[in-house]
Amino acid sequence: RKGSVVITGASSGLGLATAKALAETGKWHVIMACRDFLKAERAAKSAGMSKENYTIMHLDLSSLDSVRQFVDNFRQSGRPLDVLVNNAAVYQPTAREPAFTAEGFELSVGTNHLGHFLLSRLLMDDLNKSDYPSKRLIIVGSITGNTNTLAGNVPPKANLGDLRGLAGGLNELNSSAMIDGGNFDGAKAYKDSKICNMLTMQEFHRRYHEETGITFASLYPGCIATTGLFREHIPLFRTLFPPFQKYITKGFVSEEESGKRLAQVVSDPSLTKSGVYWSWNKDSASFENQLSQEASDVDKARKVWEVSEKLVGLA
Ligand code: NDP
Repeated sequence: RKGSVVITGASSGLGLATAKALAETGKWHVIMACRDFLKAERAAKSAGMSKENYTIMHLDLSSLDSVRQFVDNFRQSGRPLDVLVNNAAVYQPTAREPAFTAEGFELSVGTNHLGHFLLSRLLMDDLNKSDYPSKRLIIVGSITGNTNTLAGNVPPKANLGDLRGLAGGLNELNSSAMIDGGNFDGAKAYKDSKICNMLTMQEFHRRYHEETGITFASLYPGCIATTGLFREHIPLFRTLFPPFQKYITKGFVSEEESGKRLAQVVSDPSLTKSGVYWSWNKDSASFENQLSQEASDVDKARKVWEVSEKLVGLA
């Protein structure tokens, strides 16, 4: 049978390019888990995906009710779950004030981390039930949250501190909208959320890989400077960022190429190792990359897991 893969945020950028790359192989049915149904439908059509290769299902990661509803709807569809790709993200680099999810968590960490954390935890049951030979749970990471790289050292740097803001529910009434309890900074909140993504992948690996055989992986697909992720940045940045990445840092990667990379992590028989953070070199060959100290801190991963469990109502 065809593999069945759920991709969050498949209505644009990396998620859409990955959906297209997998659908084109004819070996995958892609469930596009998106907050804007019509946008997703238009995106799939304009990418030339044929109807029998995808299904669109509603998912708004900034509402935990919506996450639970999605899981119910997915189960009712009767489809198996072979691979889950946590790809969606929001980035608010110019926001002066924090925005919040339905439950009142700061929006970037609430959506990118907590929404995906609940989704992944709930869908573990479904992954476990699948009889697919290579089951995978993938969380898209980023170099920007990784302070052992040049890009990860552009201020404001990611830093989760002692998690006091996260423990307080990520809102200013109780404590702070930032994980470390500091003043709100939209760019930092995004980087912090990506650190949480990478820590969560490793914690999944430690808790479940041996028992379930599921492959847990993260990746940095390259700098896809043209995606909607930068939609809230100032216009000058949006004009200069793609050529800067192309000619100066040479980290630029097209949406199509990034989609092929993530599709590899979903389906390539040689990428089954669990607990790995994948990156690609200039010739587009994949390699196991090193995470920064904070992004590979075992103790912090466990704490983020435990505090997040409480916030999403699992503990
Ligand atoms: P895009 O903005 O193009 O895609 C993000 C997707 O997430 C969109 O489909 C968006 O939906 C969706 N999304 C946002 N909020 C929600 C929500 N509340 N519920 C459901 N879906 C939501 O950005 P990219 O393709 O660049 O980003 C994809 C991933 O790649 C992210 O995890 C990002 O961190 C990562 N990444 C990107 C890099 C880059 O250079 N661009 C580099 C490294 C990592 P909608 O279409 O409705 O807006």
